[in-house]
Amino acid sequence: MYSLEREQTWGRQLAEQVEKQARMVKDAEVNAYVNRVAQLIVRNSDAQVPFSVRIIDDTTVNAFALPGGFFFVNSGLVLAAENEAQLAGVMAHEIAHVAARHATRSATRMEIFNLASFPLLMFGGPAGYAARQLVGFAVPMSYLKFGRDAEREADLLGLQYAYAAGYDPAEFVHFFEALRAQQKRKLSLVARAFATHPMTDDRIQRAQQEIATRLPQKDEYLVTTSEFDEIKARLRRLETSQSVDGGQAVAPTLRRRHPDDKNRKDEDGPVLRKPN
Ligand code: ZN
Repeated sequence: MYSLEREQTWGRQLAEQVEKQARMVKDAEVNAYVNRVAQLIVRNSDAQVPFSVRIIDDTTVNAFALPGGFFFVNSGLVLAAENEAQLAGVMAHEIAHVAARHATRSATRMEIFNLASFPLLMFGGPAGYAARQLVGFAVPMSYLKFGRDAEREADLLGLQYAYAAGYDPAEFVHFFEALRAQQKRKLSLVARAFATHPMTDDRIQRAQQEIATRLPQKDEYLVTTSEFDEIKARLRRLETSQSVDGGQAVAPTLRRRHPDDKNRKDEDGPVLRKPN
């Protein structure tokens, strides 16, 4: 196992690469808000490192936390969340990965922990912006692709952190159910959502079980704030005002079904019913 200090150095180097390559949301209010939500969860977690959150201007629904507390949240995640508790739930899951040091563990296991070659591997060569967008974070994501056990652990810890911070832990599950429903309607944005954290029926069921058996019902939960709505609206305005950048549309687009596809059946799995 690598030391916490070495882990932070590693994370910082990766974070610098991400910030160089990705388009960041610089708006101070949006950053302050997302950081505030993150810090509330961090204070209620086992994390041993301070967290700093940056927002990536990307409508894909995703978030990832690098070792050492360097946390990136896509604008798409904030826009897709229906309320603050959903945003908090997903962030708590990512914070749990860092608290449990999953990336460090898998790096240790794979023995490919090579700081010098990492940045090259990541975005190597004189790739253009479009190409980078395409390959994007493929390599760091492969470092952040955890096994089933790690995902389960992050789910359970994340639910506990969100709950301890006062949020309704059930919103984490509701968020993924809503995403799956959207996936069925073939919203292209969601197709790539959480490529590193596939939410399977098994995980949803486990999360529901965890909530029902291990988190005693509270009288009141924090579900959302007016600030969440304001920030979401602000982010939406920011996205539309710079909707074209280098010929690439930033605004979400609906993928239309090809006329030939109309008889094709959805290949998605069964829908889970919530026990009430
Ligand atoms: Zn995960």
